[in-house]
Amino acid sequence: MIKSKSKSESRLLMMMVVAILAGGTAGYFWGDAMQSIAWVGELFLTTLKMLIVPLIAASVITGVAGLGDVRHLGRMGGLSVAYYGCTTFIAVSIGLIMANLWQPGVGAGLGDAAAPTHQLHDVGMSELILSLVHPNIIEAAATMKLLPIIVFCIVFAAALTTLGETGKPVIRFFEGVNEAIMTMVGWIMFFAPIGVFALIASKLGQNGGGEAFLAQIQSLLVYVLTVISGLLTHAFLLCTALFIITRRSVLDYLKHMGTALMTAFSTASSSATLPLTMEGVKNAGVNDRARRFVLPLGATINMDGTALYEAVAVLFIAQAYGIDLSFTQQILVLITATMAAIGAAGIPEAGLVTMVIVLEAVGLPLEGIGLLLAVDWFLDRCRTTVNVLGDSMGAAIVDHLDHKVK
Ligand code: ASP
Repeated sequence: MIKSKSKSESRLLMMMVVAILAGGTAGYFWGDAMQSIAWVGELFLTTLKMLIVPLIAASVITGVAGLGDVRHLGRMGGLSVAYYGCTTFIAVSIGLIMANLWQPGVGAGLGDAAAPTHQLHDVGMSELILSLVHPNIIEAAATMKLLPIIVFCIVFAAALTTLGETGKPVIRFFEGVNEAIMTMVGWIMFFAPIGVFALIASKLGQNGGGEAFLAQIQSLLVYVLTVISGLLTHAFLLCTALFIITRRSVLDYLKHMGTALMTAFSTASSSATLPLTMEGVKNAGVNDRARRFVLPLGATINMDGTALYEAVAVLFIAQAYGIDLSFTQQILVLITATMAAIGAAGIPEAGLVTMVIVLEAVGLPLEGIGLLLAVDWFLDRCRTTVNVLGDSMGAAIVDHLDHKVK
């Protein structure tokens, strides 16, 4: 049974690799035609999104209820926040070091700097704290505001565990919901290679096909290389941490996570990828209680790739405008980029919007964002993949540490 499961996992992984390569090739050469299959990708993405709210609710409630007493919840919560905080801080530091070394913005022309078309809004500390709650939990679910749903479910589950026999049927109900949703995830996975193919091919098509893509990359080559080398360095550190702390085989873990990572790359949304991240971490054998609690929280607030990207982007803008950021200002970037990444939703290009708080903190022109728009759709995919990698490694590491601290 286990053998056949791992066989079908390997087969799916192979199909995903082929789908990404084929999607890239088709979008490169026949970009225009590929736009007509955009709806297939949309279908895959929407089907995944459809599962997010019930999955998060059932998973967090059963996860927290499974932890038993409130002290265990406190320990697991503390470990998760410590992991998220440390890795995000390291990610921003890598971004700052890379941008100082490569100097991607020096000599970049300001000619293309148009005001960004995205709706920009400020996210201060008080907004971040207020975003933990919502006056209407149904509306939060309807509008996919995930953080208040998670907070509600944690407190709701903690309350259920104090009710004894009265709380048990409710917990059992959510266990059933959780199992059913995970079964649906298993079914959707078979559709993943087709969805991924369509998403990649049509997105390349929408952006003008292969030649336009190469021209976009070329116009900001040093910047793109700085972000990508930073992301790769961070991914390497995460893998090393997984090995040193848990002694797991990194290759084996990555194999289980392959489908989720490739879906993250194709959808540019860590929230939409959450169902597949759950499945991958489950197959990797991470304890249910840790997985159910740590992953939804991670997919919502832990964004290492976004934090790293924001640091590089802000330094790029400063360099392009010929503004020298002092050491103290760079420390301010470190702090605000961490906040901006926590505040970013797990949806496409959210990081671009929350970057405003970093730019404002160090007094840089917001129009600078316009300089980066051309390649953001591509870098968004790369950083989302690292966001999902950070979440999945976090589940295994927090689970391991939780057993040790006990
Ligand atoms: N697209 C990213 C995610 O979903 C967020 C961002 O950096 O824009 O994780």
